[in-house]
Amino acid sequence: MESFDPALVSVRSAHFIGGRYVSGPVAMDVARPSDGAVYADLPIAGADEVDRAVENAWQAFRTSDWARRAPRERARVMRRWAELIEADVDTLARIESVGSTRPIRDAAAWDVPFTAECIRFYSEFADKIGGEVAATRPDHLGMIVAEPYGVIGAIAPWNFPLVMASWKVAPALAAGNAVVLKPSELTPFSALRLAELAVEAGMPPGIFNVIQGDGRTTGDALVRHPRIAKVTFTGSSQTGAAIMAACAQSGTKPVTLELGGKSPQVVFADAPDLDLVARRVAGAIAGNAGQVCVAGSRLIVEKRVVSRLVDGIASAFAALKPGHTWAPGTTLPPIISSVQAQRIEGIVKRAVEQGAQIAVGGGRLPVAGAGAFYAPTILTGVSASNEAVREEVFGPVLTVQTFESEAEALALASHEKYGLAAGVHTADIGRALRAMRAIEAGTVWINRYGRTADFVIPTGGYKQSGLGKDLGRQAFEANLRFKSVLIDLNQGA
Ligand code: NAD
Repeated sequence: MESFDPALVSVRSAHFIGGRYVSGPVAMDVARPSDGAVYADLPIAGADEVDRAVENAWQAFRTSDWARRAPRERARVMRRWAELIEADVDTLARIESVGSTRPIRDAAAWDVPFTAECIRFYSEFADKIGGEVAATRPDHLGMIVAEPYGVIGAIAPWNFPLVMASWKVAPALAAGNAVVLKPSELTPFSALRLAELAVEAGMPPGIFNVIQGDGRTTGDALVRHPRIAKVTFTGSSQTGAAIMAACAQSGTKPVTLELGGKSPQVVFADAPDLDLVARRVAGAIAGNAGQVCVAGSRLIVEKRVVSRLVDGIASAFAALKPGHTWAPGTTLPPIISSVQAQRIEGIVKRAVEQGAQIAVGGGRLPVAGAGAFYAPTILTGVSASNEAVREEVFGPVLTVQTFESEAEALALASHEKYGLAAGVHTADIGRALRAMRAIEAGTVWINRYGRTADFVIPTGGYKQSGLGKDLGRQAFEANLRFKSVLIDLNQGA
């Protein structure tokens, strides 16, 4: 995809409720991460507008045929929706790229097709799980009937706005629910286009709604709304805990939480191709400038290969090209906001005060006419108690810890607080599987790092990294509730 003028990309400053755009009092500016320029404003839905969206979704759930229609018809609409998203790639990728940290080439080649494919994947579940017949005593028939919840409240983060929205929304809709989605206030616009295309594909108006606003006002009102039957959230562990408390206080609502991480990349000296491993380690922390929940932010490496690996990672970092997201050659995107860049700076500064050495990077990158860029950074000499090891940075900052024995490696790999993902690189399959068993994390990648396009593998965290799963059959089932039915066959005999 070519470079484009971001000023020519227009967005709607609105909510999307009941199948149409709805404006509201404008309350905040939205800036482009690439250059910090304010390019749009945003309404913040208060309790009244949240109520309107949720009631609309509830009415659509009850009166449209979405939940009751033949599941294969629901699947057909979702497939058509996926096709429309793919056909709309130029518009969607530009909206995504201007408003977020996603370089246009990645947005067009990955984010948009991935979003469409996720919707297609869940459409295939629509008629696959209806419940089961239970093995009860023979004069009775027992059934466990799968039903949608009703209205699901979905809250998404800013780091991959379209993809994260699809992970929440697609399984909920395929299971027959209605959804009210609140995107991040930092990246609010691509979700509107997604909802517009759903209606164009034949989804009944009101089944998929988008409300705009911040977390404290809009997000909290959504979670607490009495008609929200379930909440699905992706974001930080701190917000996840607040949402879990709000769910408990407002009707003991079930909640799925996809939260933060501090994922290790464990490299043994026998890994088959250490140069390739170094490039992978670099990609796993520098991709999207480290603003990835599963960023491989802790390198745990066998001592005798540490310098070779650090040199390889440094060369991969040096090859990255910082730039605007609308420039096709950009491979190192901006940090989402200057507030987040200051947070990264603060953690690195304190990490050094606590004994870390900066081997590479360690500061902002001057990029002409651009927003906040942070240099991919390697911190060595860190102990487990260093803040850069303990806390999620959400930036391109890699800490390095070394080991001499497998036991030492495994002791370092599990994190006191987080357990989202882990990578293990070794030629020894026994060792790889011992590591897989030992590491407390929801996902372990062996001799690779990161997801493939296999939506069938769920993702989700252990410990403070989350509760429940996105993706896979598990996420579809999590959007269903199960009713037990017992029939006495003797009646009328
Ligand atoms: P965040 O927690 O600040 O915000 C996420 C969303 O929650 C936003 O839409 C925000 O408006 C909303 N929100 C904030 N406070 C709220 C409240 N009290 N009630 C209801 N909603 C509220 O997170 P972020 O900065 O947008 O995203 C980055 C974080 O997301 C990182 O910690 C990252 O690891 C995590 N993340 C996790 C996954 C995963 O799959 N585990 C995926 C992507 C991002």
